[in-house]
Amino acid sequence: MRQIIIIGSGPAGYTAAIYAARANLAPLLIASSVEAGGELMNTTEVENYPGFPEGVQGPELMEHFQAQAERFGTEVLYDDVTSVDLSGEVKKVTVGSGETLEALAVIVATGSAYRKLGIESEDRLSGHGVSWCATCDGFFFRGKEIAVVGGGDSAMEEATFLTRFASKVYVVHRKDTLRASKIMQDRAFANEKIEFVWNATIDEILGADKVTGVVLNDTRTGEKRTLDVTGLFVAIGNDPRVHLFHGQLDLTEEGTLAVEGRSSRTNLPGVFAAGDVIDPTYRQAITAAASGTVAALDAEHFLATLPEELLAPADGDSSPTSPASGSTVTADGQLVGAP
Ligand code: NDP
Repeated sequence: MRQIIIIGSGPAGYTAAIYAARANLAPLLIASSVEAGGELMNTTEVENYPGFPEGVQGPELMEHFQAQAERFGTEVLYDDVTSVDLSGEVKKVTVGSGETLEALAVIVATGSAYRKLGIESEDRLSGHGVSWCATCDGFFFRGKEIAVVGGGDSAMEEATFLTRFASKVYVVHRKDTLRASKIMQDRAFANEKIEFVWNATIDEILGADKVTGVVLNDTRTGEKRTLDVTGLFVAIGNDPRVHLFHGQLDLTEEGTLAVEGRSSRTNLPGVFAAGDVIDPTYRQAITAAASGTVAALDAEHFLATLPEELLAPADGDSSPTSPASGSTVTADGQLVGAP
């Protein structure tokens, strides 16, 4: 049995792993079989992560996260969690291979998944002109006219990036003001290849086996019109990935995992949550990373309060469990002296 399993390999998961590994907890991080690295793997330049004044590519940043976690003894498993049983003292996590892994503490850092428009043609034409990832698929639209739907930072980032390939990028937004940050808005407004289509929703995506256009609905007049594009990038936000935990972990009204105050403690002892899966508001790489730190410290604190007999050495680790990241637990249960 392990001391700690971390589910998720974005900034929250890897930061939790760095702290847990430095605390000699020999964490196992389950990184997913196909989407390891989280959302930053689909990003290009990250300009706002502190410590990289010139910016850093998203995948490169995630490589750094992983290398740092592994340096201190994190084991990374590339598999998908298929079910969990978190109710008992020993937490059970089953992965795609069929193996059930056990731990005394679990940190859930499953992030969020791309939101869909919810129209029939979206699924049918997914991979045939409909995409959620400009960095993955932008190349296929060289010299083409395409559309991005959404009004947040993701939509601005995708649209701006896609102008490297496309001859024209329409940004279709359901309102007449953007949610995106000022700097991202300004960059998109200044780009001559980007044209905004305001107050419009997408009623239908046209095409039998590949996208040939989209039907727009004017939200003020109800008028329909067709925009001839060969690609549609959906960038309308994300929903927290909580499906594995229904019936076990409490959710908030926003659909994120519920945690106690500023802590990472869920309703189940020994289960902690961090990153976008608990955050309906800020959802930045740096806030996710910070939240991973909180979860690791909370888990470390929790493990330190368990009876000695439960604290068998972690697999392959003969060292005893102790809150070893320079911190100690005081008589009243406070964790002090953490770096
Ligand atoms: P957001 O939730 O910020 O924005 C989603 C956008 O999609 C909104 O404009 C929303 O419209 C629109 N939308 C939502 N649902 C629908 C729908 N069904 N049909 C049409 N439009 C819809 O999500 P983002 O992914 O843009 O950003 C998420 C977080 O990640 C934010 O905190 C953002 O700052 C951050 N981020 C930061 C980046 C950076 O700093 N480099 C890059 C990308 C993301 P409405 O405005 O009407 O609600």
